[in-house]
Amino acid sequence: MALERTFSIIKPDATARNLTGKVIAKLEDAGLRVVAQKRVKWSKADAEKFYAVHSARPFYNDLVAFMTSGPIVLQVLEGENAIAKNREVMGATDPAKADSGTIRKEFAENIERNSVHGSDSAENAAAEIALCFRLEEIVG
Ligand code: ATP
Ligand code: MG
Repeated sequence: MALERTFSIIKPDATARNLTGKVIAKLEDAGLRVVAQKRVKWSKADAEKFYAVHSARPFYNDLVAFMTSGPIVLQVLEGENAIAKNREVMGATDPAKADSGTIRKEFAENIERNSVHGSDSAENAAAEIALCFRLEEIVG
């Protein structure tokens, strides 16, 4: 077990339905601590940069349009095995395949409008945190 930090986004479908607090409660109930948080609206350039790894995927343009369609909440989460724990509480990418009790099972609308993002590796967590937060904005 190791104390880790991961990067999380509450996506526009969730902010639009006023689910920010409910998503955060799920994260906190799973033992994750919000150590940085800000509500922003991404430009097209912001979303394209963040999702550059998916630029060859057929859903990339739609994903960028979705992620710029409304406010999002950027977070740094801290906890024991935070990266895996967050992926667990998020549930599968497609809410139809997500386990009961997960954020995506309870709140996601579909495979694209799936309410949350979470880093999938330690390397990506560090890169995503560095892209979106200054060190002094993270208070553990
Ligand atoms: P995230 O990276 O947001 O935490 P993930 O790791 O479960 O989710 P990825 O494969 O990295 O899923 O895809 C990134 C995002 O792109 C998904 O969360 C979803 O919003 C969107 N997406 C993924 N697959 C599809 C698809 N087949 N059709 C439409 N959108 C998709
Ligand atoms: Mg991913």
